[in-house]
Amino acid sequence: MRTKSKWSPGPGVKILGVALTDDEWVVSAAGSAIGICPDCGRRSQSRHGWSNRSLQDLPVQGKPVTVKLLLSRWRCSYHKCERQTFTDRLPTVAAPYARRTTRVLEIVGLLGHSTGGRPGERLMERLGMPVSDDTILRQLKRDAAIAHRSNTEVRVVGIDDWSWRRATSYGTIMVDLERRSVVDILNDRSVESAAKWLRNHPSIEVVSRDRCGLYAQAVREGAPQARQVADRFHLVQNLRSAIEEQMSLSGRATGRAILSEDAIVDAATHRRRARLAHRQSRQEIFEKLHALREEGLSYSEIARRTGYERRSVAKWLKFKAPPDRRRAALNPTSPWYFETFLAECWKEGNRCGRHLFHDVKQRGYTGSFANLERLLGAWRRAGREQAVDVPPTTLKPEPVRDPDTGHAISPVVAAALCIKPRGLLTDRQARKVDALKQGSGAFAEMRRLAMRFNGILRGKRSAPLDAWIDDAIDSDLIPIMRFARVLRRDIDAVNNAIELTWSNGQAEGQINRLKTLKRAMYGRAGPELLRARMLPPLHTK
Ligand SMILES: [Zn+2]
Repeated sequence: MRTKSKWSPGPGVKILGVALTDDEWVVSAAGSAIGICPDCGRRSQSRHGWSNRSLQDLPVQGKPVTVKLLLSRWRCSYHKCERQTFTDRLPTVAAPYARRTTRVLEIVGLLGHSTGGRPGERLMERLGMPVSDDTILRQLKRDAAIAHRSNTEVRVVGIDDWSWRRATSYGTIMVDLERRSVVDILNDRSVESAAKWLRNHPSIEVVSRDRCGLYAQAVREGAPQARQVADRFHLVQNLRSAIEEQMSLSGRATGRAILSEDAIVDAATHRRRARLAHRQSRQEIFEKLHALREEGLSYSEIARRTGYERRSVAKWLKFKAPPDRRRAALNPTSPWYFETFLAECWKEGNRCGRHLFHDVKQRGYTGSFANLERLLGAWRRAGREQAVDVPPTTLKPEPVRDPDTGHAISPVVAAALCIKPRGLLTDRQARKVDALKQGSGAFAEMRRLAMRFNGILRGKRSAPLDAWIDDAIDSDLIPIMRFARVLRRDIDAVNNAIELTWSNGQAEGQINRLKTLKRAMYGRAGPELLRARMLPPLHTK
């Protein structure tokens, strides 16, 4: 019967009969009438015995199919062959010892890749191919290992890090930028492991990486032949944070920082300044909202007048003090809480620690004299080194205000606007930018630099970069100078970023996919499984 041959799972299998039981199809079949020795390749018709093998195959009419195979065990009659007996092999039907046909395992691997273990198990059951989630995951990992072995010919790779447990441990992702697919996932973020990986892929010619020095070092060690490309997106982001730092440093307003670099570079000082600036602008918003509420206005009316969402207005009005998202917010035990007042005194020549301690206590300072002295000490040192008798102008907090709402413009917003080309600004944003340019010399200067930097990145020519770096260093704006110096240290990679088209944009996309997978697996996914699902599926045709 012709239909009988259609039941065969592949060549070399002869169908004997098909029977439908309650819940599955059972296909009885037999191997071929002649055996071929796997060692010497000679044919044998001398049967030694029989063996049975049971294989799960593709479903029929929604019901599972089991192929019961009767296979011969043959004797090899060639006298020089060391093998005495062998069983029928069915290379196109199933791997040795497999309990499922190859075509079922392909589906298992594909389904596992797109859905993961448990959901895959439910779906396979419904499709008439019941398999356990363990089997699915095992197949998925096996496929990933094969896929990985076959992709050693990477030429252009993008390297980036991703967070494995929120900001406590990191992994590394390698993306083939030409084929637009993930090549590998490493469990950690270290020079050693990334360098080792690069050494195992000697075909690599170009490596695109973020500005993190770690991967730069890894490329130097593991792929010295490759051209390094700094990622353009990260370059712009770093410029943006330098601008933000400068804006909070200078009270988001006027002038240049006159503190010596050492005093400014003190990281703790930075954090406190940024925090204080942030807190001040929040305080203003907070007070304004409460004042309006006291006038008897409704939430909606306040929202309309201030431009905030009604929801945020309601939230802010619930609190008695501005909601501060940082736990370590400044309070009157810290001398920094009184920074503005102290700076005023300092400027007027009132620099005696004991006197200032007295004055500041009157204003509610509850901290120690030693703490106050630490702050004053930094100012004294700054004064000595620079021989400048002016207190930090950073402490002249006359912030630039949004011409539409009258609110102080925060350093974060100012920095974001600073790097945005005019053509992309909304009318309101354009008014803010103009106000910032007028109110802050530093902002105006940084905007000129940022626009030039954008132009250079887009211009595909790295020659103008050198002059830009010089000008940025001449700006005397400390964070901008630092940014420029880092560019100079990494100049080759930055030049390549301008001249080559490669960027890590794809890697960012893949990291988003990875995060989604990680969450979908409820954080139970081990690194190996995550890796298996991130690599491209094996059996796509
Ligand atoms: Zn043989």
